Amino acid sequence: MRLPSYSFFTKGAPLSGKALACAPVLVLAALFLFFAQSQAAKEKSREDSADLSIICTTDIHSHIDSRHGAPSWLKLATKIRKEIERSGGRGKTLLLDCGDTIQGSLVGTISRGAAGIAMLDALEYDAWVPGNHEFDFGAKRLSELILESKTPTISANLDCPGIRTRPWIMLEKSGKRIALIGLSYLGKGAYSKTDNFDGAEEIISAIMPQIMDAHPDLIILAMHCGMHADKEGPLPNLKRLLLKYPQISIVFGGHTHQEVPFENLGASNCFIQAGKHAECAALVQVSFREDSAPEIKPRLIFPDASEAEDEKCRKTVSKWLDEQRKMDESPIAKLRAPIRHEPAPAFSPAADLLGKAIIAAGDAELAFIGPLNPDFELRGEIRESDLFEFAPYEDKICVMRLDISEIRRIAEEQSLCKEENKIQRLCRASEKDEGYFTLPHDKNSYLVAFSEYAAFGAGGRFPVLREISKSKIRELRRTGISVRDAAREQIKKKPFSEP
Ligand SMILES: [Zn+2]
Repeated sequence: MRLPSYSFFTKGAPLSGKALACAPVLVLAALFLFFAQSQAAKEKSREDSADLSIICTTDIHSHIDSRHGAPSWLKLATKIRKEIERSGGRGKTLLLDCGDTIQGSLVGTISRGAAGIAMLDALEYDAWVPGNHEFDFGAKRLSELILESKTPTISANLDCPGIRTRPWIMLEKSGKRIALIGLSYLGKGAYSKTDNFDGAEEIISAIMPQIMDAHPDLIILAMHCGMHADKEGPLPNLKRLLLKYPQISIVFGGHTHQEVPFENLGASNCFIQAGKHAECAALVQVSFREDSAPEIKPRLIFPDASEAEDEKCRKTVSKWLDEQRKMDESPIAKLRAPIRHEPAPAFSPAADLLGKAIIAAGDAELAFIGPLNPDFELRGEIRESDLFEFAPYEDKICVMRLDISEIRRIAEEQSLCKEENKIQRLCRASEKDEGYFTLPHDKNSYLVAFSEYAAFGAGGRFPVLREISKSKIRELRRTGISVRDAAREQIKKKPFSEP
């Protein structure tokens, strides 16, 4: 196997006014323009004649249809089909998805993940890698969906009873053998064998000899993990892994919702990531050459705003879209005043709604409530789709009795959390904003409600909270009520709306 080389799409530089005032320069400029145009034409024809196109989506979060003109998987599907046709058909195109695919929209919830899987099947994806949110409807449901799907599920690090995935597969396209390795989310709590890249390195080291024995022409790693998982830049461990295995030519990333058009991480590895919510797809074109390394061209492709929805896919998911439309026909409540989130220490009507909802559903005295979107406002008539945007996770409420020192330790841990969008705030059932987020002091212990995701440490973020909930596991009460269902009940009540 030879290591690949890269090239990029460049545009000709514009000519300045001064240059145009001077005749000899004009000739030179014309020559330059001719050269630039012919280069661009060559570039275009090389692009059209690539041997293989690999298209990869990620973090679509079941954004299947478009709300308020937003991007959608149905529109991206049209763009993908056009790209497949331009690339010479399915025999010359590989279509992949890097996960967080089935949950994150009302249609996703109505279908309990089936709509996302139906989209993968209708577009005939060659393979997909499950992400952490694939478990939001439960591991049993994911296992059912995987069994019913035509699309191969690949993951080398998934560790969940009842779910069988292949760590890697070999696909044949354009007469070439392409080995595809899958890696799901590496974090704790998502049925993963690994909680960092050290674990991933071990797993990949174990399967690499089998892959090399199968003589692939190209090796791809598709993972539900981003390159910029921390602010310090590319994950040092990912870099190390790719330096160790330069024969992995292309890495498709996910999970962090970032758009990465190209990044060179190792000796010769190309990293690319397609952002989120069906806004774009990653495209890598590969030209195999006789006696030298394949040429690799990565870029992101975006559907036009006017892109039509893909007919075949729409038909496949129409029953769930119809159900969504019916749900949205009658409003849940009519709000007396808009509900939006204000950051602490200001009083937040959205936190007030969520706090009251969780306390009432858990029959508790206090609650730690999850993050709220500061850009989202509930106003006027509220429909199921609005409520979904307010509480987008499939998270249930649990209750524990905690003494005041335990509540203080949890609050302290939250105050140290640097991820603003993960912080759990303390709420009391009081009617007024006075002391709303402060620690109570009139009793020795309180019944405190949490979302189960937060109570069990939010994917390893809150070890203190996790340790406390684990110590209470016997008396911890699971209500079975989801945060969204609790919010729906609360929103109908005073003072939010007229019952
Ligand atoms: Zn994810």
